[in-house]
Amino acid sequence: MELAKCIYPFIKTSPEKTRPARLFATKVQELLKIGENWKPVVGLEVHAQISAKSKLFSGAGTSFGSPINSAVSFFDAAIPGTLPVLNKRCVEAGITTALALSCKINEVSHFDRKHYFYADLPAGYQITQQRKPLAVDGILHFNVFTPGIHKQPYPKHSKIKQLQLEQDSGRSLHDEETKRSLIDLNRAGLPLMELVFEPDLEDGEEAAALVKELCAILLRLGTCSCKMEEGAFRVDANVSVNRPGEPLGVRTEIKNIGSVRAVAAAVNFEIERQVLMLEDGLEVVNETRSWNTDTNKTVSMRDKEVKQDYRFMPEPNLPPLRVHLDSNLENKYNLIDVPFLKEQLPELPEESRRNLVEKYAIPRELVLVIVNEPTLLEIFSKVLNDRPNRSALVIAKVLVNSFLEVMNKNKINLDNCPITPEQFGEAIDLLETRKINLLVLKLVFEELLANPQSSPEKIVAERNWYQIVDEEELTKICQKILEENADAARKYKLGKKQIFNFFKKAIVKSTDQRADMKKAVEILKKLLQ
Ligand code: ADP
Ligand code: MG
Repeated sequence: MELAKCIYPFIKTSPEKTRPARLFATKVQELLKIGENWKPVVGLEVHAQISAKSKLFSGAGTSFGSPINSAVSFFDAAIPGTLPVLNKRCVEAGITTALALSCKINEVSHFDRKHYFYADLPAGYQITQQRKPLAVDGILHFNVFTPGIHKQPYPKHSKIKQLQLEQDSGRSLHDEETKRSLIDLNRAGLPLMELVFEPDLEDGEEAAALVKELCAILLRLGTCSCKMEEGAFRVDANVSVNRPGEPLGVRTEIKNIGSVRAVAAAVNFEIERQVLMLEDGLEVVNETRSWNTDTNKTVSMRDKEVKQDYRFMPEPNLPPLRVHLDSNLENKYNLIDVPFLKEQLPELPEESRRNLVEKYAIPRELVLVIVNEPTLLEIFSKVLNDRPNRSALVIAKVLVNSFLEVMNKNKINLDNCPITPEQFGEAIDLLETRKINLLVLKLVFEELLANPQSSPEKIVAERNWYQIVDEEELTKICQKILEENADAARKYKLGKKQIFNFFKKAIVKSTDQRADMKKAVEILKKLLQ
């Protein structure tokens, strides 16, 4: 009680938006000792749009950003008399995903109608899989590691209750000017896989880590683009808290969280909100909430207390979906061959990580970053494949440090990174042959962003960015700096050792960052003796 009261005003008066949600989260978590007095429970539901050219039950296209209502078949608009035709690619993608997540595939699954009344659902029901989904009982292993919060990565897993195929609904657009609501049916009927996870997680960081790993797997399988900003990957988070040893608490559901960062922030906020309410003697109500990215808070959307009756019933226009679990069966015609799909599974991200650590002795922190970002992994693999004698460790370090830093600074989305693996490889060679140093390497990346047609060799030659390695030349540079700063040099010799950094900076500056700093430092030390 006491504690809650002293934190409430803190929440209310905290400047919204300016405070990073994560810092805020850990601060309150500390104050409330959530781990000791309260046990948070988090379970995720993920809607992943299956990468397929056409919709789940119709031939309409699926590309994002098509003109409004242009990718709509008669079936998607629920014109009477139209019938669903199941898209084989979607079933295969669902099975492939289920296999990668160690699910048990149901030999026979069923489609059901889930009824609700909303303008963006023209048929008045969604076709989904309720009674018998495509697959059940899977598991997802992942590592949780948020620098600044965790000292080192720790392993975690979440069981998967089921994986089902279902249709997406349309989209309502609310026009403020004309005060009208308009419907875009392009999304109606898009193929989705819904993955329902067991309530196995404990905080926002774990939820975000699960989402990241799931995305890495789906991207590897090619079954989902995982573009959250396009709505192709949507996360609902169920959150409850209870006192240790007591039964699970009442849960709320945060719908459609739009980014990995928001998953962590929304879950942490919701845990704290519930703890504060309970500490204050209030009750958590079972409701649906949404995450507001402007205020960094969850807000109530509608309460679920009256359980909605979806009137589930079998979909009469689709026969049971039967797949082949046994590769020796004859008469496979037109059936989904599960053992074949299993053989086709690519190397999964965790396997890649293990390989990178074992084969190249790259530190795991670097590997985690590289494997989680398909563009980085692609560059890494290509650059190394092109010339296997390049140092894997140097490539990895440059990718994660210099390269990523320049990309982030310039707000480049790595999916559209203009720097090619060939250009990156050439830059690495310049670094490894000591023609340039790490500082200049970053300038080269900057220059390539501005001028993608150019090449690292050309840039370095044109601007004379070659590293100064010549002993004599470096000595002259150092001597000059010491002469110009004779006073500082004297102080250094009298014991003010911090001044050394000042000299280093002066060398970097006077050589336009081109000096071989390792050598320069040696020379400088000698001169100062
Ligand atoms: P329903 O049938 O009401 O949809 P489910 O059992 O299917 O409920 O669970 C839906 C989601 O809610 C799952 O992702 C599950 O992990 C999560 N969940 C269930 N109970 C809790 C709880 N007490 N706290 C947090 N999450 C929960
Ligand atoms: Mg459910």
